[in-house]
Amino acid sequence: YFVSEENLLSDKIVIKGEDVHHIVKVMRMNEGDKIICNVLDGRAAVCQIQSVSDASVVTTVLTWETNYTQLPINVTIAQGLPKGDKLELVLQKGTELGAHEFLPFQAQRSIVKWDSKKMKKKMERYRKIVKEASEQSHRNNVPSILSVASFTELLTYSSKFNHKIVAFEEEARSPHYRKLSEAINQMKPNESILACVGPEGGFSDEEIQSLKKHGFHTVRLGPRILRTETAPLYLLACISYHFEE
Ligand code: SAM
Repeated sequence: YFVSEENLLSDKIVIKGEDVHHIVKVMRMNEGDKIICNVLDGRAAVCQIQSVSDASVVTTVLTWETNYTQLPINVTIAQGLPKGDKLELVLQKGTELGAHEFLPFQAQRSIVKWDSKKMKKKMERYRKIVKEASEQSHRNNVPSILSVASFTELLTYSSKFNHKIVAFEEEARSPHYRKLSEAINQMKPNESILACVGPEGGFSDEEIQSLKKHGFHTVRLGPRILRTETAPLYLLACISYHFEE
């Protein structure tokens, strides 16, 4: 269960909100049972339940875990808005694979157009998806999901990253092209990576040119064309393979 730092009071962690229902009614846990609490600063503790009420579950920390499950490198997936519920799949599987952050963006060829009203409604569901995927995959933290950005906002945001790559299937070897393995070889632990993936129809030439001007390297994800929702998962799996056991 994920809790914020305010829920940690010396050796006690107090769980509130929806998780209380999950612990008490779904998992049928009670006093004396053990659970793992992840504090949002990245620490995880094995806790024992002390008391249970309708509003809260009070636990005592038994031990702090040393098993950090974060990817040693912070990967932000910038996903061109796909159709239907494909973004949900990217969020869920991307969380399992260790993404640090998700940035959906409105690409020229995105078929769906999202305004802030629609995003607000969806955000609650998305946060639930990444929280549950984080718990299921024993992550120490929950990735953040940024609101849908325009392409210009994406370019501005890109300035804070150590490495910027864009998955582009059509690249004939240009000065901006990097073999994916070479791009990953240049990454070091604790650095930040922004990885961009196009929507179903891919990137427009204009978008690719702008990304290159903003310092993005194009990478290919093998010789086959992957669906838009497969591409970020392929990238994350490659990065995990390189950095983790
Ligand atoms: N432009 C193509 C088309 O319309 O037939 C395919 C677009 S592909 C379905 C969606 C996105 O996935 C692309 O914009 C790219 O970011 C990524 N992608 C898929 N396969 C890829 C590959 N083999 N190499 C690099 N990127 C790939």
